[in-house]
Amino acid sequence: MMDYIFTNGYVLNTSKETFEDNSVLIHNGTIAFIGSEQDCRMAASQAYEIIDLKGRLLLPGLVDSHTHFVEYAKSELLVNLRDCYSLDEIRAYLINYRANLSWNPAWILGDCWDRNRLSDPMKLNRQFLDEIFPDKPVALISKDYHSKLCNTLALKLAGINANTPDPSGGRIERNEQGIPTGVLTETAVELLDAFIEPLPENTQVKAIQSCVNKMYKQGLVGFHSMEGKLSRDLLLKASSLGSRFCLCWHFPVSELDYVATEGRKSFEGDDYYQTGGMKIFGDGSLGSRTAAMDAHYPDDPANVGILRYSDAELYQLMLSAADKGFSSTIHAIGNRSVRQVIDTVRKINLAYPDSNFMHRIEHVQSICAEDIPRLKATGLFVSVQPLHLAYDVPMIEAYWNQIQDQVYSFKTMLNTGIPLGFGSDAPIESINPFLGIYSAVERRHALNPDASVFRPEQALTPIQAIIGYTLGAAQSSRMEHKRGSIEQGKLADLIVIDDYRRQPSTFWLTAQSHLTMVSGEIVHSVI
Ligand SMILES: [Zn+2]
Repeated sequence: MMDYIFTNGYVLNTSKETFEDNSVLIHNGTIAFIGSEQDCRMAASQAYEIIDLKGRLLLPGLVDSHTHFVEYAKSELLVNLRDCYSLDEIRAYLINYRANLSWNPAWILGDCWDRNRLSDPMKLNRQFLDEIFPDKPVALISKDYHSKLCNTLALKLAGINANTPDPSGGRIERNEQGIPTGVLTETAVELLDAFIEPLPENTQVKAIQSCVNKMYKQGLVGFHSMEGKLSRDLLLKASSLGSRFCLCWHFPVSELDYVATEGRKSFEGDDYYQTGGMKIFGDGSLGSRTAAMDAHYPDDPANVGILRYSDAELYQLMLSAADKGFSSTIHAIGNRSVRQVIDTVRKINLAYPDSNFMHRIEHVQSICAEDIPRLKATGLFVSVQPLHLAYDVPMIEAYWNQIQDQVYSFKTMLNTGIPLGFGSDAPIESINPFLGIYSAVERRHALNPDASVFRPEQALTPIQAIIGYTLGAAQSSRMEHKRGSIEQGKLADLIVIDDYRRQPSTFWLTAQSHLTMVSGEIVHSVI
């Protein structure tokens, strides 16, 4: 394996939160020495290549603490309505998609529709899709992933009709006559999922490989993925075919018994692949107004969101994982759901006083002030997504106006000593971590530099945001002894970026990695 000396740039010192004028020797895939170029040369034990940083910054490789990576890879092949803000735009997109299909999918699949953006939201329904796809089943996931929109043929194939009852924890949206409109929310989505034909495996693996290559340019060297075993296997397949990345896999509740047979407990594994926690959904989402809140949603007195489980059920679920040696990774967006998770983890901690679990709470988009120290006391690891903030601002104003002081409290949590790991929740938002850094620092709606700053007192410094994607992300899988900072003995996961300190913060909106190294191997270079 080639050795390298990075020199003539500035190296992030994570513990001091500053950049230092140093050189770094990479030997055998690890960071062997940090010091002057002369001392690096002296420390080298074999031939090395000099990499001239030309005054740029050397950072630890970025890791995304929360993705659905295979979904993201597939989304690159599928319908993606992310940029559609009206019914006309959606129609035009779908007609164009149909005209340009280079393969013959059994189902038309995709995501990212958002009724919150539409002036006539209820017209986005099965009849709308039937006009464009009368003879192929269509199932499109909402932007927040908590609903699916299908056409008439898809409902028919799944046997969903006016007589189908709402499943517990879900809803089949219906018109005044009780006929399904085509929108299924929460667990009702599962009524359809069993009938959807997946993409061929090799198509998916190729899509993963191409996304991994793209992610290197965005400074990413790894990610956590919240997906089922089939997706995990596709990621490992891509890895075995030469794609280099570090992966932490958080598995669904339904696969607990299976994962226990694999013989690895939470956060065990090797340098490239670890088993994470059991992913539990505590509540819904803000966009679908299913995030579980203390108070009802403003225009809907009956709606306080949906807790997926009773207190006893959530405790039982976490216990069933803990009994098999697994931590839990729990999605909680509303303040009521966050509190339920805190209370449940307190009980689990009492039941396992000597355990070594690291439970994670995902999103924490709202939290009551008095719950922040309680959260800290549980030892929960907090995984947050700065890009959700950027796109949630209008919904916060519409649905959470009364509790704005509880929303996206990154700085307060950090100052309380709660570790934060940053991620994207891709494909819900872009996987580009530089956009996440911009959002954590600037907190502006839709990443618009001219928009006002949402809760400016919660803005982070760029280095704090970088730490969220590096040391924080490493801590979120207990890999901080091996990754996450530029320290002697750690794996050489490194990226090179321009010196943002000399530029306005809009720098991050177009930032790219000039060089990306995973465990000592250069996987991307335009230096
Ligand atoms: Zn997610």
